[in-house]
Amino acid sequence: MEYIQAVKGMNDILPHDIGWWQKVEATAREVLETFGYREIRTPLVEKLELFARSIGESTDIVEKEMYAFPDRKGRWLTLRPEATASIVRAFIERNLQSDPLARKFYTLGPMFRHERPQKGRYRQFHQIDAEAFGIDDPMLDAEIMFMLRCFLEKLGIGGVKLHINSLGCRECRKPFRESLQAFLEERIAALCPDCARRSRVNPLRAFDCKVEQCREQMEEAPALLDFLCRDCAEHFEAVKRHLDRLETPYRIDPRMVRGLDYYMRTTFEVITDQLGAQNAVGGGGRYDGLMKDLGGPDLPGIGFAIGMERLILLLQQSQDGTLKTPEIFLASVGDDARDRCFLMVQRLRDRGVAAEMEYGNAGLKSQMRRADKLGARYVLILGQDEIQRNAAPLRDMIEKNQVEVPLATAVDFLTEFIRKHSTRNR
Ligand code: AMP
Repeated sequence: MEYIQAVKGMNDILPHDIGWWQKVEATAREVLETFGYREIRTPLVEKLELFARSIGESTDIVEKEMYAFPDRKGRWLTLRPEATASIVRAFIERNLQSDPLARKFYTLGPMFRHERPQKGRYRQFHQIDAEAFGIDDPMLDAEIMFMLRCFLEKLGIGGVKLHINSLGCRECRKPFRESLQAFLEERIAALCPDCARRSRVNPLRAFDCKVEQCREQMEEAPALLDFLCRDCAEHFEAVKRHLDRLETPYRIDPRMVRGLDYYMRTTFEVITDQLGAQNAVGGGGRYDGLMKDLGGPDLPGIGFAIGMERLILLLQQSQDGTLKTPEIFLASVGDDARDRCFLMVQRLRDRGVAAEMEYGNAGLKSQMRRADKLGARYVLILGQDEIQRNAAPLRDMIEKNQVEVPLATAVDFLTEFIRKHSTRNR
């Protein structure tokens, strides 16, 4: 019978690759928590209007990429395309403003966008997302970018560049919008139909267009940086000054607007040249009006998201696998020995030692082959003779030597031995 395939653009993460994911997740938690972020988990499904209102009606995500559907009562829901709006919603709805500890949040998990799948671009993908509310100090903007750098360094990912820009506030955007609109009107014949339409409703979005011809035109477009009001210009100067003091290199990219309407002032992206077309590893920015627009208190916010698939592609290009192997394999000959090994394996695991044995009635040779395939460095061999003399050999399969293990205290002995000799992080 024909088998049922997964949905296009949605991947299984197989045991073979899980080590990379666990490494990225553990490093993210460690770094984010050190910087004062606390984990929040919001539902994968939200009301459609949450994203329409926050990301913006005329963005690619909302116009073309959402997995939206009516539920059984005809209410429009969607799989979340990003996490910021959900976290802001939770903050408002759960009244977290009154909790003095609740200012910095992070979440790890799947997002869904109906994009054309290719390497580094999927329909279900995973993000590490961090958001901080209630702080408009430019120190925080610099701190977040510094934190991103620390995270990537800790993972051992090099060769990435930080691009920054300021999108100003509603005040400075007004004259900019007029100037951009005039620019787009002049060139309307050279723009794709989407951009021609956007030039009227949301001209800023023309900067996101992926059509080559539009990109070329936008090279000459006016830049928001030239329109910043005094407060926004001062904020941007302060962000740069703090980044300099933190020795975090950056490049100013005046045409980087990012694909969501809610950004204001500082925006940033981490770019790599090692992933072909999908060159953004992560990005984020300030969204000082969003909380209020979503019906909450008028608190500023800033955040970013990193794509985990892209991080893992980068890691795999530069590092050896992190596949976990058992630390010890217990081989046996005879039913009595097998029963004892079974007990020992479970007790060792109970103490945190990754022990393995073979199920079924395999011969010693085939057990040794299995230990080898699994990559176990140490193998204990237990047979009738060993039971009689109350000791069994533990072989080091790399050094090719062995030690005697007293059976009466075997679990203690092996736990101690593995603790001393294992190369695994504990
Ligand atoms: P965004 O929320 O669009 O700013 O995206 C933040 C990060 O998420 C990007 O820099 C990517 O690393 C990742 N990302 C966004 N969309 C996708 C996708 N369709 N597939 C894989 N990763 C993605």
